[in-house]
Amino acid sequence: MRVYNFAAGPSMLPLEVLEEAQRSLTDYNNSGMSIMECTHRGKVYEPVHSECISLIKELMGISDEYEVLLLQGGASTQFDAVPLNLMKTGKADYAVTGNFSSKAYKEAKKYGDARLAGSSEDKNFTYIPTQSELKFSDDADYFHYTANNTIFGSKWGYIPQTSAPLVCDMSSNIMSEVVDVNKFGLIYAGAQKNLGPAGVTLVIVRKDLIGNQMEICPTMLKYSIHAKNNSLYNTPPTFAIYMMMLNLRRVKALGGIVEMEKVNKAKAQLLYDFLDNSTFYTNPVRKDSRSIMNVTFTTPNADLDDACVKGATAAGLCNLKGHRLVGGMRASIYNSMPTEGVQALVDFLAKFEQANK
Ligand SMILES: *Cc1c(COP(=O)(O)O)cnc(C)c1O
Repeated sequence: MRVYNFAAGPSMLPLEVLEEAQRSLTDYNNSGMSIMECTHRGKVYEPVHSECISLIKELMGISDEYEVLLLQGGASTQFDAVPLNLMKTGKADYAVTGNFSSKAYKEAKKYGDARLAGSSEDKNFTYIPTQSELKFSDDADYFHYTANNTIFGSKWGYIPQTSAPLVCDMSSNIMSEVVDVNKFGLIYAGAQKNLGPAGVTLVIVRKDLIGNQMEICPTMLKYSIHAKNNSLYNTPPTFAIYMMMLNLRRVKALGGIVEMEKVNKAKAQLLYDFLDNSTFYTNPVRKDSRSIMNVTFTTPNADLDDACVKGATAAGLCNLKGHRLVGGMRASIYNSMPTEGVQALVDFLAKFEQANK
């Protein structure tokens, strides 16, 4: 039986995407072999690679001023790749609004003068600083922030304004809402939350920012190398790219990101409205900073949190345990989570509240 999987990542994929992959698992397009077994430099794989990249460009409205790269190493590798490639004068601004942005900031300090432009650590990352609270330096090579804080359930409700190029980790909210890519110098995202399975990382980078990498930058982390080779410098994660392509075909067929945004906002509102109307559950995040992808909440105590997670699992609502840094529960409701899954969660939480308050 399929369950509703509320995991933060890897996260659930649409059944029809999995079934399509299953149908062609042993013989892809009459090639007599699985797409997994095809050379990445052959006629069978090549259209998959290019369709995946064109779907990303089309869905996000990416202009020719940008390169779209399909890389490996997860979003975490970009914590190093970004400074190695973009810190041309050795200075950058960072906002720390959660665990991943903190890691990115720490990595950047190894390569140059990474400065803290803003932080929400004082209140356990339960809010996003406002534009006027950010302190930018005027000579930064870029400003890095994390659009959606997967662990803490917060999101930047605005695109920050500064003179340096914006670099944004969108791992947990890419393609969840319409975003004007032209406002960014670089966007990166691990695929396993909103795009496909684990194993491929999307990097969208403005062409004029490529090519100024540090002398020590490993070849495999150079954007220039991957751009020049159409992300085929070495063996790409072919199966993960294929799965992402299937998933993005579905996103397009459903109406693209405009439609995703509509559904995602409705799903999040359903859950937040329920939590706000309850005296039993609490959401710790400031209202203007709420994520629509990761919703964190607690019951009145840790024992009830445990019971809630257990009861939900038994009801086919899985992986609701919150991250150890936050505790409580976290419902990750990415693009592939249907509205029915969120409704089923709300119904369960209402019953659990009745039985335990
Ligand atoms: C999951 C996540 C990461 C880490 O991604 P990996 O692919 O596991 O390296 C980084 N940033 C954000 C915002 C994430 O949600």
